[in-house]
Amino acid sequence: MSPKVWIDGKLFDKADAKLSVYDHGLLYGDGVFEGIRVYNGKIFECDAHLDRLWASAKAIRLTIPLSREQFCAAMEETVRAGGFKDCYIRAVVTRGPGDLGIDPRKSPRPSVFIIADLIAVYPREIYEKGISLITSSVIRNHPNALSARIKSLNYLNNILAKIEANDAGATEAVMLNHEGNVSECTAENIFIVREGQVQTPTPSDGILEGVTRKVMLRLCRQMQIPCVEKILQRHDLYIADECFLTGTGAEVVPVTRIDGREIGTGQPGAMTRRLMDAFHRHVRES
Ligand code: PMP
Repeated sequence: MSPKVWIDGKLFDKADAKLSVYDHGLLYGDGVFEGIRVYNGKIFECDAHLDRLWASAKAIRLTIPLSREQFCAAMEETVRAGGFKDCYIRAVVTRGPGDLGIDPRKSPRPSVFIIADLIAVYPREIYEKGISLITSSVIRNHPNALSARIKSLNYLNNILAKIEANDAGATEAVMLNHEGNVSECTAENIFIVREGQVQTPTPSDGILEGVTRKVMLRLCRQMQIPCVEKILQRHDLYIADECFLTGTGAEVVPVTRIDGREIGTGQPGAMTRRLMDAFHRHVRES
């Protein structure tokens, strides 16, 4: 296995994969992306990721220069060339190279690149012990500034919150929205469990609509576990029986401490463990 990168139709080894420093994706964060898992040689939730990529691109008026079928084939080709059965795909579409200046009309030709590589977001023991969160002082982007529903190359909002978590010695940061309600973590969606009910913020609370989040809500329904999308306040986190995060890279991660407070018993909860098991079974079977 060796990481491969597809750039505008050609495959490269990791060390040879290069893009122009005039690419507006790099100069201005002008672009969109997806993080996708491959399990057992199959792209997990390919349609859902392509839907979100196309929606993100539409929101920033960027035309993806490939059909969905061509995009999917390019991802499969990259994974195959790397010799992977299980891996992570980073698919990126940028505004492309252009003269200096933010005007997108300077970059008439979007760049597409696809990386197939391994990923380990958290060490193994974290899934047994759980992680700690802080609530960040950095609020999630106001939806009328840059909607969190766009998976754009502008991650500084999240990175600033992540730095705050690092400085505080916590693993992750949960971000509140402009109204003070819970939105999401810096690269994962958040769920709590209270009195047997699974709860997670709604898309209008300023979240990226995670593919893993959607799978988790579907699994809850299939397993007849009560689950709701609703406004959550920090108070709800503090009084939760359990808490966990979902994301493509992280999968399902238990949270056992928020702002120094123990969540539930301070150990990953029974519902969280059940849903982690169900998720792992699901990805192996799908
Ligand atoms: N929120 C943010 C800000 C993210 O970047 C991500 C993806 N890493 C998620 C949530 C989770 O989304 P998904 O399950 O589609 O990976």
